[in-house]
Amino acid sequence: MKNCPKCKSEVDDHFELCWNCNYSFFDKRVLELHELTKVETEKEIDCLRCKIPMKYSGEFKFHEGSRAGIFGSVFEIFQNRESFDLYHCPKCRKVEFFIP
Ligand SMILES: [Zn+2]
Ligand SMILES: [Zn+2]
Repeated sequence: MKNCPKCKSEVDDHFELCWNCNYSFFDKRVLELHELTKVETEKEIDCLRCKIPMKYSGEFKFHEGSRAGIFGSVFEIFQNRESFDLYHCPKCRKVEFFIP
């Protein structure tokens, strides 16, 4: 057992986080709530037009030859990237790409 320097609660040695006040022994400070919630891979993105959340459609990967083809110059700025997160709006079918 060790004692939390912040609230003096007893914390099991196995834990690096105080159950009472979220003090992190590792970071030597109290963590904010948003630091505790894990970052989700799926972002919350609203369609600018419909104001509804866009749906995650998965990862889009480039195939051989598609770079200069259908998508053309749209992706020229992303040329060095191999994959994107793909989102679509269920209402207006707008599709957006995000760099993971
Ligand atoms: Zn504490
Ligand atoms: Zn939309």
